[in-house]
Amino acid sequence: MESGGALFAGLQPNHLLAPSRNATSVFPPFFSDKRSSSFHSLRVQRQVNFASSIVKVGSHVRRDATLSDTYISETSELADIDWDNLGFGFQPTDYMYVMKSTKGGFFSKGELQRFGNIELNPSAGVLNYGQGLFEGLKAYRKQDGSILLFRPEENALRMQMGAERMCMHAPTVEQFIEGVKIAVLANKRWVPPTGKGSLYIRPLLMGSGAVLGLAPAPEYTFLIYVCPVGNYFKEGLAPINLVVETEVHRATPGGTGGVKTIGNYAAVLKAQTAAKAKGYTDVLYLDSIHKKYLEEVSSCNLFIVKGNTILTPAVKGTILPGITRKSIIDVACSQGFQVEERLVSVEELLDADEVFCTGTAVVVSPVGSVTYHGERVTYGNNGVGIVSQQLYTSLTRLQMGLTEDKMNWTMELK
Ligand SMILES: *Cc1c(COP(=O)(O)O)cnc(C)c1O
Repeated sequence: MESGGALFAGLQPNHLLAPSRNATSVFPPFFSDKRSSSFHSLRVQRQVNFASSIVKVGSHVRRDATLSDTYISETSELADIDWDNLGFGFQPTDYMYVMKSTKGGFFSKGELQRFGNIELNPSAGVLNYGQGLFEGLKAYRKQDGSILLFRPEENALRMQMGAERMCMHAPTVEQFIEGVKIAVLANKRWVPPTGKGSLYIRPLLMGSGAVLGLAPAPEYTFLIYVCPVGNYFKEGLAPINLVVETEVHRATPGGTGGVKTIGNYAAVLKAQTAAKAKGYTDVLYLDSIHKKYLEEVSSCNLFIVKGNTILTPAVKGTILPGITRKSIIDVACSQGFQVEERLVSVEELLDADEVFCTGTAVVVSPVGSVTYHGERVTYGNNGVGIVSQQLYTSLTRLQMGLTEDKMNWTMELK
């Protein structure tokens, strides 16, 4: 295990505000105990770290995830960071939520642990055979201090679908949402002030049990960490430049493109890195059979606008069913657009009025240009189309609690 010193060093600015159970105050006596053998002191260190870094979340915790008063007060102040310059990078926070499955495949005894490195058996299914899934959602702080989650049950269901595909055990929808609530409330001081960004929530599911021959792991770990992120586009919407990839494919029929499994992402790094080196923002993938129908970008879905019609590739197993995608379709329909989910060809892309991508991180990201076989097509209004702008504003206002949530998509945490 990584030394607690290193772990908490990363949290230096915060630990001044942190509770007495902060292990930094516990470590020095053990480190200076010269009478112990190094083996013994290591063991003690580990036990102390374990004991001091876990906050039990027992079954008495109600579904609305109210934590004890002392606990809430520890986390009520805002973290001491530069909220005006939040980017999209990793920032350690205070706690992570961890829950393991038992033999029968049921998850139980979820608990908060101090954010830090985790221990894994080198033979863990996730490390050897890629049995891993991730999710991503955001929490926004409203002006009245309450915190809003956006459609967390959709992420829970998608993780279950992914788990089914990858032969993994998954938490129930209730367990998933409870874990998310607990992780967010425990790290409340990391939820950016209204208008400065959001708390990105990253649930992971991994085969943590040991396997040697290829087989599903016997045990799974569900872990949630959170990280404050800025609004993706600080100065309003900034258009991105995509290149259509004609050689590499992100997904194939019958494969795993439709689930958020970790291996799908390492597999696109090469094409993405090459595209970035040539000045493009990201890669647009085509279907692997005909090599002419649009699929999606490395981590977001694609939409094209033509007149009053909005087209997006239908979800048929090779495209990730984005929750932003689904929400944008509903918002666009409610605003009178005709939305079609079907095969969309490269020709239609090159002939579009507007193109945009959707995903939790960006919400809506307008596409300024697309390059296909060396030919660059740009889109009007400097790449920030009116429809993209309008849909971005509608959805983000709803997510931030600035407009009435008629869809019943947001979930409020107190
Ligand atoms: C996560 C993801 C998306 C977007 O999904 P959201 O639920 O909208 O965040 C789109 N494509 C891929 C490949 C993804 O991994």
